[in-house]
Amino acid sequence: MARRSRVWHPNTQMSEWESFDTIVRGEGMHLVCADGTRLLDGVASMWCNVWGHSRSEMARAVSRQAAQLAHSPLFNLTHEPAEMLADRLVGIAPGMDAVFYSDNGSTAMEVAAKMAIQYWTNSGEKKRGAIVSLQNGYHGDTFGAMSIGNNPKFFSGFARYTFRADQVPVPGRLQNRGGMRRDAGSCLEAAERRLARGDVAALVMESGAQMAGGVNIFPPRYQAGIARICRRHGALLILDEVATGFGRLGSMAEYVAQGSRPDIVAFGKMLTGGYATLGATLASKRVAGAFLGEYSDLRHLFHGHTYTGSPLATAAALENMRLYTRHRLIERVAASSRVLGGFAGEFASMPLVADVRHRGMVMGIELGGGRIASPARSINRIVYDIGRNHGIYLRTLGNVVMLVPPLSMGRSDIRRLCAAALRTVADLETVLG
Ligand code: PMP
Repeated sequence: MARRSRVWHPNTQMSEWESFDTIVRGEGMHLVCADGTRLLDGVASMWCNVWGHSRSEMARAVSRQAAQLAHSPLFNLTHEPAEMLADRLVGIAPGMDAVFYSDNGSTAMEVAAKMAIQYWTNSGEKKRGAIVSLQNGYHGDTFGAMSIGNNPKFFSGFARYTFRADQVPVPGRLQNRGGMRRDAGSCLEAAERRLARGDVAALVMESGAQMAGGVNIFPPRYQAGIARICRRHGALLILDEVATGFGRLGSMAEYVAQGSRPDIVAFGKMLTGGYATLGATLASKRVAGAFLGEYSDLRHLFHGHTYTGSPLATAAALENMRLYTRHRLIERVAASSRVLGGFAGEFASMPLVADVRHRGMVMGIELGGGRIASPARSINRIVYDIGRNHGIYLRTLGNVVMLVPPLSMGRSDIRRLCAAALRTVADLETVLG
């Protein structure tokens, strides 16, 4: 462990970290600490890393771009990487026509919500003001994103200041339901009842699975059912693929695998492979078209950031996508996913484990039992230390140990990661007594 940090760390009780490991460099699938400890990255650097750390092609692409043009805004101007990337993104996202760039996943979702609200204003449709989202969803930490993904555990302290989004139930077995499972049929019926009121501007949901909600994987046909209900009742469908797109669940655009078509879809995280920060909100022709008109009509989208679609970030994303194609990454993920999933049974058989959920390159290992409920010290803090002893970097979300390897992690590293994570959970049992 290194010196006490003056940095205020994200979602962190600073008093329970006497100091943090200082990461001095990345080497492939490893993060290297100042004391020389090598940690196999089980978090994909907060779910964004694709190719491992310090990948030469990615580093070269970013440095080439920095030498040529580090930043030029998209206000009154454009540049080649932003244009080329927009073409590439529309190429992987059927039904989408225009790309709005921002800086991260939260802003990509803010933009999505603003697009939907202004779409109806521009269309002269006054009664469609409501936003509907799913219980247990998460869309980021800014105010708009908190309003949509209003997880009471995270955000109840801000509830007075967020706007109201009506939440409909989501299928799955969730921690805060005390192990109760809700089936897709009853959830679809509830969504249908809500949308039938005819006042809904948009339904917002994560695509394929709720990641921050503890890897809650949607049952087959559920998302397609939601898309049908949105169409039937004239509401826009906004899909959040910030965490689940770009292959995390096994498909480039997860909504294609889910047999659903959004009106607006957001990407982030793995979009640049973890080499720069970028969000992208894609809209269909119908949505984008509603923003056209005379300047004096003020129909244009009222949103923009200094670094929107920066050359550095868009060049990183372009190189990232080139590597996806070159290395047939999505095909490789299918094989890696089988290796990762092969460990699900072993995790599930451990006494401390209540449930295991796996899809693509993510596994959520839900810990259960009275011993886990120890409010004084976070499970995350304890698991980090034990994982470190076994040479891996882990972060938990509540009681769920998240295994989220860099997307291109090979079989032997996946096996090492899982073996070390198994030992970590076994040690945790001993520590908790
Ligand atoms: N949407 C989803 C589904 C996410 O999982 C996250 C981040 N975990 C976000 C949005 C927000 O992204 P960011 O942290 O880049 O703001």
